[in-house]
Amino acid sequence: MANTSCLTRLYPMVQINKGTWEIDEFDAASIYLLEGEEKAMLIDTGMGIGDLRGAVEMITDKPLIVVHSHGHIDHTGNSRQFEEVWTHPADQWMPVPESLERRRFDTEHIARRQKGSLGAPFNLFNLYPYDIDVDLREMDDLPMPVVHDLYDGQQFDLGGRIITVYECPGHTAGEVVFLDETKRMLFAGDALNYNLLLMGGVPLEDTLKAMKRIQAMSDRYDGIWNGHHDFRALGAPLDDDCMENVIALLEEALKGNITYCEVPSFWGQPMPLRRRGSESADDNPFAAMGRTYLRKGRNFLQIHSMYFGKKEEK
Ligand SMILES: [Zn+2]
Repeated sequence: MANTSCLTRLYPMVQINKGTWEIDEFDAASIYLLEGEEKAMLIDTGMGIGDLRGAVEMITDKPLIVVHSHGHIDHTGNSRQFEEVWTHPADQWMPVPESLERRRFDTEHIARRQKGSLGAPFNLFNLYPYDIDVDLREMDDLPMPVVHDLYDGQQFDLGGRIITVYECPGHTAGEVVFLDETKRMLFAGDALNYNLLLMGGVPLEDTLKAMKRIQAMSDRYDGIWNGHHDFRALGAPLDDDCMENVIALLEEALKGNITYCEVPSFWGQPMPLRRRGSESADDNPFAAMGRTYLRKGRNFLQIHSMYFGKKEEK
């Protein structure tokens, strides 16, 4: 292990119940720690700020299973702090971690989004005990962890607490959710969010089917915790309207009933009405991809242009 003694471990966190914590990576991403009688599970590793492993070891000394809800930059960033990780094969092509430059851009923009501080610098009030120039870092000196496959129906026994994996492709092709029937909790990564991005290239029908399957399991969980705490308080589950609206929006989109809408502040600044394939000069790295936005209630659904037969521009 590289020397991590200079890195922050002071992540804001909430203990949701006995053995379950939501670790807030300074508004960039939500990480969950689940402790059983014999093992613990870490769901996602954030953008890569600070000493996540050190923070986890302050809470539990149980052997740790590190799983990824999906392969995105803000969910795998600190995975090189661990020897082994579990990722769905469809997302294993994504770099772990992404470049420092890209992680810095996303850290600032996602943190700004979660605070709702339009146009303000992400660290305007120095709310958090971390230094982005120190705590967000290159990790080339750390070896890649061994990557194991996650698959539908897979179970992890933490000791008196079994976690089941279910595929829920859409946001990415390899997106999965984790069901904890003992604590009656569902951990959804970015499969479900009030501003849901569909960028996995998966047919919308498949996403709708997966989402309905998760909804049909709702007698097995009391709440859904997703990978960012936008639109909810830290430690609190999503409200019920989130999944209902996502399913309704997917059904509408499949019928072709797409009403383009304005997105207020996804990247910290208003985004103009945008039709598929249109381009914009703002600093949104996805602008040229021509996403389409749909809205229902508090939900925004962002559908990548690839769904409309336009190839992704990279
Ligand atoms: Zn994501």
